[in-house]
Amino acid sequence: MKICILPGDGIGPEITAEAVRVLEALDLKFEMEEALLGGAAVDATGDPYPEATRKLAREADAVLLGAVGGPKWDTLPREQRPERGLLGIRKDLGLFANLRPAILYPELANASSLKPEVVAGLDILIVRELTGDIYFGQPRGIEVRDGERFGFNTMHYTESEIRRIGRVAFEAARKRNKRLCSVDKMNVLETTQLWRDVMIELAPEYPDVELSHMLVDNAAMQLVRAPKQFDVMVTGNMFGDILSDEASMLTGSIGMLPSASLDANNKGLYEPSHGSAPDIAGQGIANPLATILSVAMMLRYTFNQESAALRIENAVKKVLAQGLRTGDIFEPGTTKVGTKQMGDAVLAAL
Ligand code: NAD
Repeated sequence: MKICILPGDGIGPEITAEAVRVLEALDLKFEMEEALLGGAAVDATGDPYPEATRKLAREADAVLLGAVGGPKWDTLPREQRPERGLLGIRKDLGLFANLRPAILYPELANASSLKPEVVAGLDILIVRELTGDIYFGQPRGIEVRDGERFGFNTMHYTESEIRRIGRVAFEAARKRNKRLCSVDKMNVLETTQLWRDVMIELAPEYPDVELSHMLVDNAAMQLVRAPKQFDVMVTGNMFGDILSDEASMLTGSIGMLPSASLDANNKGLYEPSHGSAPDIAGQGIANPLATILSVAMMLRYTFNQESAALRIENAVKKVLAQGLRTGDIFEPGTTKVGTKQMGDAVLAAL
């Protein structure tokens, strides 16, 4: 079980340090090695995804990433920006499936902008296709046609691209409550008619999973109206980009949300859903729980260690029940702690 650790920039090194301590505390044998990605890599080598990192990431079974980016690198040429490192590693490793859970722990129900009864206990998983769709389709561009500027992009999916993301979603639903909602816009877009057709063709392979379909505009409404009706949602790159951010905001606590990006063999890149939070970097106050929960996802999806994953998730629940909070999820009546103290508490609960 080889893990490549990429702390990255901003709060990245602080939060990955806590996640590594959690990994080390499990009774499992991991081989861990650290490398540079993002702004830290640009500073050291001029390249946001240097060769040494590429080699280590390719050899590893899983990658744990903190976050990349920050104002220091925002004025560099586009190919040297930290975000290029992130896109580079996703592409290089062929990570086509993005899994983002949106979980609202009952203790944090007040952090949501929705009524507690609508969101308390929310636990949904959004599976987003990550390497196709209108974000990558050719032709694309802005041209002058008939004397005016004309912008265009191309939406397309092959049936094999849809099938492989469909399989990831059906498998994920199997590990949860066995309900899968596929989101499309088949009433307007042919590409997504194909999406729906392929999902229906896959369903007989997963008789234990209940498949339903929803148009994306309705899905956006249902997510704020009654989000607990969903278990797993699967959708294309663009719809998934928007719906996964909408779903994560239902919880009101970005510092709590992990994510996974997988290839066809369940090799994965695991990272918190938030960014590098330059505004609080170096202060020891960032919430490490999203990164720690990303490690739980790594154990579940890459290493098939369900019981170790549950141990970590239960430790996080216990720490929240004890009333410990970092600044981002603090409320009067709870105890404010820093990054390291939060890590200590999770280790104690483990
Ligand atoms: P951000 O998620 O970094 O921060 C948004 C707000 O949430 C900030 O106020 C921050 O302090 C807070 N926050 C985020 N994570 C937190 C945590 N763990 N604990 C406590 N508070 C937390 O988003 P942003 O400010 O839009 O972006 C900052 C930088 O991060 C940019 O350079 C951006 O490009 C980059 N970014 C990177 C990733 C990634 O590495 N995957 C994702 C998003 C943004």
